[in-house]
This record gives sequence, structure tokens and C-alpha cells, in this order.
Amino acid sequence: PSATANLKDKADRATTEQVLDPRTRIILFKMIGRGLLYEVNGCVSTGKEANVYHAFTPERRHVALKIYKTSILVFKDRDRYVSGEFRFRKGYSRHNPRKMVRVWAEKEMRNLKRLQTAGISCPEPIEVRENVLVMGFIGNAEGWASPRLKDANIPHSEFPRLYRELLLTAHKLFHECKLVHADLSEYNILYHVETKQSASSDAPSFGQIDGLDHGHLYIIDVSQSVEHDHPHAFDFLRSDLRNVEEFFSRRDVRTLGLRRAFEFVTNDGVDEGGADAALERRIAQAEEEGAKDEDEGEGAHAVNSRSAADEDSVFMRSYIPRTLNEVFDPERDVGVLNAGEGEKLIYKDMIGIVAPKEKEIARPMEKRTVKFVDEPNDEAESES
Ligand code: ADP
Ligand code: MG
Repeated sequence: PSATANLKDKADRATTEQVLDPRTRIILFKMIGRGLLYEVNGCVSTGKEANVYHAFTPERRHVALKIYKTSILVFKDRDRYVSGEFRFRKGYSRHNPRKMVRVWAEKEMRNLKRLQTAGISCPEPIEVRENVLVMGFIGNAEGWASPRLKDANIPHSEFPRLYRELLLTAHKLFHECKLVHADLSEYNILYHVETKQSASSDAPSFGQIDGLDHGHLYIIDVSQSVEHDHPHAFDFLRSDLRNVEEFFSRRDVRTLGLRRAFEFVTNDGVDEGGADAALERRIAQAEEEGAKDEDEGEGAHAVNSRSAADEDSVFMRSYIPRTLNEVFDPERDVGVLNAGEGEKLIYKDMIGIVAPKEKEIARPMEKRTVKFVDEPNDEAESES
């Protein structure tokens, strides 16, 4: 066959076989052989990088299989998560797709374990083999997955509670797991509620769903989560929190505003009664300011107070340095500090979190411009 026919063949094969290439099938057969799985059922979700399937264990326990696609093109745009990540220094080969995908699957497994250890609601990590991740199933006893926060039918009065829950989760993720999710949005959070078998449904209820919390948020999709000292951790955190702020303010929750949510997650609650108390203080302050705006006839319809909104527009456009070495214009900043105007430095409270590592000290200091690259939302793209 000609070279072009050959290429076309390959492309066809890649699309029709999707995830279940022969090697992946062998992995699944082996899992069945070992008694980890009993049967693999329908697809819960097909995505750009992975498909998720429902499966049963021999004990009739529901599990989810996340099967990463092994096509070489799919993971190319993940480089921004990889560069600068300590855990990727070895063994990340951009030229061997199976190896690359294996690294992502293993990373998701490790990150899920960290979440679980910190007591964050997430699927229980069970096992990973190459590109197949086995985890607890978040759904009901009929085998229906719980809806994503985006699609869930949630009583309006529940949103303020869920907003608090999510900010506390982000705080825990940062301080206890030492991670930033880096793709946190209503697409990667499941809302689990008890779904009683509907009277009209004749679907049998079978299998075990143990220990899931009803009316709570489950964090999923943590393969791209980064260490909190990753060079872009703060940029990822800011866009994570922007998604959270936008989602809940669209649902009329009086949110903190992005800048303050960011400060809460990175700074608060190490003392003074912990994160819960700190969050309550911040929310009380936001409500007070909002009420004042309304009295003054300003922003009667705005959810955030005027000052929070002003701060955010500056904050979104600011470059957040990770360490002292990333301060974009050291001479100017020292000038600002000496003039007693330290308040103007957006990162004044943040640079203390991680002392610069030796490697970073040795690096020549770059002069950087203030910028924030507005990155397209992967999820939104893959949705369309
Ligand atoms: P990606 O976004 O990379 O395709 P996700 O991990 O977000 O992969 O999973 C895709 C979808 O599969 C989720 O939106 C959710 O609907 C479903 N899903 C993922 N993990 C589980 C799970 N443990 N239990 C139930 N459903 C899940
Ligand atoms: Mg996802």
C-alpha cells in the first residue's frame, strides 16, 4: 500500500478502536483473571483523553474504570502541567505514548490517594495497570453515575453550603495534599445524592455502593493536578478558583470574590480556629460589604461587593510569582517596599509560602512582564 493509504489506515484504526486496543483488552482480561473485576459494562463517559466505564467486582461492588487513550496526539497539550513538576523529572517520554499515558494514570492514582488520606470526598483509588485506573464508583445502586455539578439538579438553597464545602476542599487540597487541582470546575465535581429507585423505573437495584456521602461534592479527574510548588501552581489555582467563583455567583451565592478566595485558600486558617472559622469570617465580611453597597444604591444586583469586584479585575490581570526569584521586576518592587507601599504588591503575602530552592536561586533572574494568559478551558472545548 502507498504511504498515504497506510497513514489513513492508521488513523482509521485509531478512531474505531478508540481506547480498547489489544493491549488494553489484555490488561482487562488479566484483571478479570485475577478476580479484581467480574465484568466490564457500558461507557459512563467518552472524553478526549480517557473513557470511563462501569464495572463490577466479583463481590458485586460497583467500580469505575478510567481507561486513558494511548493515541500520541492526545496528551501533547499536557506539557504545561509537566514542565517544572518534580515528579516528572524522570521517565516522561513524549515519544512513547504508552509510557506517557501510564505516567498520567499512575499520577491520578497517587493523587487520589492523597485526597483520600486527607479525607476529601473522591473516588476510592483501587488499582492502576498501565493505562487502566480502577476506582470506586460514584453513583447509585442501579449503576447510574452521579451527575456532574454542572448538570445536577440542586435546590437553590443548597448552593451556599456547597460553595463553602468546595472552598474548604480547595484549602485542604492545598495545605494537606499539597496539590492544586488544575482542572477544577463544575465538570470535574460530582454531586452525589441518594437516588431512590424511581417508581416508574423497572431497573433492578443491585450491587453495593458503600460509604458515599449524600448531598456532597466528589472531586474527580486529578491526573493533571500539580504540586503546590509547581512553577505555575498559582496560575492554575487562580483559574480553578475563578471557575468556582463564577459557577456559584451565577447561582446567586454571595461569594468572596476571586482575590479573597485565593487568599483564603493559600493563607488562611493555619491558626485562629482553623480553616472553617477563617472562611466564616471572610464570608461574614463579604456579606457586610455587599449589604453596604446595596444601602448606597450601588450594585444592588451584584452578588459580590464593589470592592471585591475591583480587586478581582486587577487580580486577574496580575502575574503571580511563585517564589522571590520570579518577582517580575525586583528593582521596582524593592522601590515600592522601601516607599512603604508594600500593600500594592499583590504577592506580598504569598511569596513566603515556599522558600526558593537552591536550584531556583542558581537560575538567572528573568525579567518578566505582568501577564495572565487566558487559557482556553479544555473541558468546555471537549464538550462542544
Ligand atoms: P476526563 O474529563 O479526562 O474525560 P474524568 O475523570 O473527568 O475524565 O471522567 C469523565 C466522566 O466520567 C466524569 O465527568 C464523570 O461523569 C464520569 N466519572 C469519572 N469517574 C467516575 C467515578 N469514579 N464514578 C462515577 N463516574 C465517574
Ligand atoms: Mg473531566
